[in-house]
Amino acid sequence: MARRDDLTRRLLAFIRKAAPYAYCDACLALRLGASLADTSAGLATLLAEGKEFERRRRACYGCGRTLALAALTDGPRP
Ligand SMILES: [Zn+2]
Repeated sequence: MARRDDLTRRLLAFIRKAAPYAYCDACLALRLGASLADTSAGLATLLAEGKEFERRRRACYGCGRTLALAALTDGPRP
């Protein structure tokens, strides 16, 4: 549980740093050295808090696939 909380913080830091670019769950998991399941759970936690994130359909900066990515809501609009 502590490890998952730590991952959530790392996800938040990574996504903020990567903005305005966004990464899909799989690319975030790869870059943070976490499992896809833990990454998805961490993103769900951040999205549930709901203040700065939303799922938006856009291209992943890592793999180029267009998916519903977790991105900062206040980032530049495409
Ligand atoms: Zn990707």
